Amino acid sequence: MKAHDGMYIDGAWRPAAGRDTIEVVNPADEQVIAHVPAGTAEDVDAAVRAARAALPGWAATAPAERAARIAALRDVLVARKDEIAGTVTAELGAPPSFSQAVHARLPVEVAGSYAELAASYAFEERIGNSTVYAEPVGVVGAITPWNYPLHQIVAKVAPALAAGCTIVLKPAEDTPLTAQLFAEAVHAAGIPAGVFNLVTGLGPVAGQALAEHPGVDLVSFTGSTAVGKRIGAAAGAAVKRVALELGGKSANVILPGADLARAVAVGVANVMGNSGQTCSAWTRMLVHTSQYDEAVALAVEAAGKYGDRIGPLVNARQQARVRGYIEKGVEEGARLVAGGPDAPRETGCYVSPTVFADVTPEMTIAQEEIFGPVLSILRYEDEDDALRIANATVYGLAGAVWAADDATAVAFARRMDTGQVDINGGRFNPLAPFGGHKQSGVGRELGPHGLAEYLQTKSLQF
Ligand code: NAD
Repeated sequence: MKAHDGMYIDGAWRPAAGRDTIEVVNPADEQVIAHVPAGTAEDVDAAVRAARAALPGWAATAPAERAARIAALRDVLVARKDEIAGTVTAELGAPPSFSQAVHARLPVEVAGSYAELAASYAFEERIGNSTVYAEPVGVVGAITPWNYPLHQIVAKVAPALAAGCTIVLKPAEDTPLTAQLFAEAVHAAGIPAGVFNLVTGLGPVAGQALAEHPGVDLVSFTGSTAVGKRIGAAAGAAVKRVALELGGKSANVILPGADLARAVAVGVANVMGNSGQTCSAWTRMLVHTSQYDEAVALAVEAAGKYGDRIGPLVNARQQARVRGYIEKGVEEGARLVAGGPDAPRETGCYVSPTVFADVTPEMTIAQEEIFGPVLSILRYEDEDDALRIANATVYGLAGAVWAADDATAVAFARRMDTGQVDINGGRFNPLAPFGGHKQSGVGRELGPHGLAEYLQTKSLQF
């Protein structure tokens, strides 16, 4: 696999300040496929300086021209989609079909949406005797995880570019090759030097240096709640803006009268997709006591169909972590009805699609984000009970409600403490604001709400 041995700073690949490297491992066979430089505070400083120097020019570039560059970026992502899918499969382990359909396609949609928004957004409005300008926040420090490696980069970089911000990206250690490919795409799209910069490296070194750099105006972070809390605290101390897209433990609530077979099938697919490594996954299925046994049987059948179609987890550490959660579920008295903690293959970071029944709301597996292919099925007595269980975690990122009709599902969804809810199997909308209530985060990504995160107002009075 081709890898750059430098950082993309100020429009060119430059040697890293230090000599340390990060091994990139394919989790399907645990072979090392590449090495990338492990950036230091020095690399981050060089990148932030480049971004700051490029800021006045990019901020003053007409929105139509910014839109044209983002459209060119989208076109490069389209042209290189097979390479993108192959790279995500190699370093994340996602099955090729999922890499094509989701990891390579979704960023194209999101980049396209920001090309359109940059051209049409009202960066200026009249309010009474004022003209209010929406101006770029400044230099963005973007820190991204590995689970949707390109999507999470594009969900930050595209709106930042549309707003007129400049960016330094620190991608996840496990998936730096996708980030390097993205930097090549930025270059090919003719985005001016210094507007986008890439520093690969370890979270506690390069990530922390970026989050704490005084030259960064907004830190946009996606990842674990533990790291997010630290980044939020540091940003607060520096009076710096921060956007946090953190963990989730979403509920899939199946109300009586819903199409049970469909709700369970879609729910299982939602949890097992990307090997369960989706922050918005509906990992808790809530079923009325009268339909509970039938739902468990349907879920076991659906999980059993996955077999070899499920990819590995991203690395051995995540595999061990997820297997530990499965053991904890058994210890705490949940009933294992599919899968289990044993590794299904001799090599590779695989975990079997796993389903637990008789899960109660206080169990660890019902409270903590597992980030693996593990579904917990909980029982409720009535709607109030279902709502209490659905809201009984520190998270509030997403969810689903199924009912006999949309009105019933909507009434329930309005009472959920969560940022996004799919009604009776509603489709993902790349323009709808994505982000959490409670400890799932601060701020929103995607669409016009995602663009607003990268803007600040200036009011002129007449
Ligand atoms: P993480 O939070 O450690 O890493 C996310 C990003 O933050 C990476 O780029 C990492 O290098 C960086 N980082 C780590 N420590 C940092 C620090 N001190 N300062 C600045 N940046 C730092 O997440 P992880 O280890 O990759 O995954 C652990 C858990 O996080 C997962 O099991 C899952 O529960 C959760 N997670 C959530 C999401 C999400 O989309 N919400 C994505 C990935 C992981």
